[in-house]
Amino acid sequence: MVRSRARRGMGVGSSFGDDALAYFTERLDPAPLRRAIAKALRRTKRNKAFDGSHLIGFAIDGTGTARCSKEKCPLCHPILDKEHKVIGYNHHFSLISVVGVGLSLPFDVEPYGPGDSEYAASQRLLRRAVENLGPRFADYVVVDGEYATAPFLHTAGEMGLFSIARLKGNLPELSAAAERRFRRIPPSRTLRWEKERVEIWDADDFDPWDALQWESVRAIRYRQHKPDDTVVEADWLTDIPKGKVGCPSLYRLAKSRWEIENQGFNDGKNRYGMEHIAHHEQNSLQVQWLLTLLAIVIERLYRERYLKRGTHSALTPIQFLRLLRLSLGLAATNNTS
Ligand SMILES: [Zn+2]
Repeated sequence: MVRSRARRGMGVGSSFGDDALAYFTERLDPAPLRRAIAKALRRTKRNKAFDGSHLIGFAIDGTGTARCSKEKCPLCHPILDKEHKVIGYNHHFSLISVVGVGLSLPFDVEPYGPGDSEYAASQRLLRRAVENLGPRFADYVVVDGEYATAPFLHTAGEMGLFSIARLKGNLPELSAAAERRFRRIPPSRTLRWEKERVEIWDADDFDPWDALQWESVRAIRYRQHKPDDTVVEADWLTDIPKGKVGCPSLYRLAKSRWEIENQGFNDGKNRYGMEHIAHHEQNSLQVQWLLTLLAIVIERLYRERYLKRGTHSALTPIQFLRLLRLSLGLAATNNTS
């Protein structure tokens, strides 16, 4: 579009060279971009665009993306084959998304290079999210098993968030205690959920492990019986009191973690181009990911919340794109006349 007639319509007088995007993204400060996305999210909450959900969640997880053949920036992670030979490079970041509100809005990334870690990056990301969005924006953070450590759960608590984390073998004592307890008692609740029968066990008096400064730990186990007879079972731990969230709701909050995988990583990579490296430089990569998140947030808010406003029939994304291009072209024509 920078080469089109529309430039005049946008008030851009000079033409662009091939390396303009590279210069631009290398020098752009990511902080105002992050604040812009946060502002959109705060407005979304204020305008009650989240489903009637009474609890708002954050999901956090890390991923590798943007594969390349040569090492060109400090964020390049070597990819090794079975013989530990380097066969390429990719880039890692932690992503945070608003979840559990009927609308997944991924809103910030924190890259981590070799020598740094997903775990450290995710804690920086969580702190910055709460700084940018305000202390009472969300109610809980939902994470996979590797985050079920005392430092991460304490960080979440300091940020005023409840934690919901997958309970796996990395917490052997608590895992074994949950197994001993739940194996010999009937489920606390059985419910029907989207053609599935779900049994849930729920107990809130488990002992915290040594490093965890909680009075007690609540653990749930769910066993989903799917229509094709497959069974999915998982344990989770949390500090949300039973009086605040009953076990059917807690089951749904735990499931909201999938949004970071499906509407975050999968959509981001397969539908919004997060795998693509427009310019291979560390600040540029971060800025490109953030611009992609800003686009996702605006597009989802528009398409999933305001698309049907007005008298027009619902429009598809490609129709919106064509309308945008047409309107830019028209502005350019008007300018020249
Ligand atoms: Zn790189």
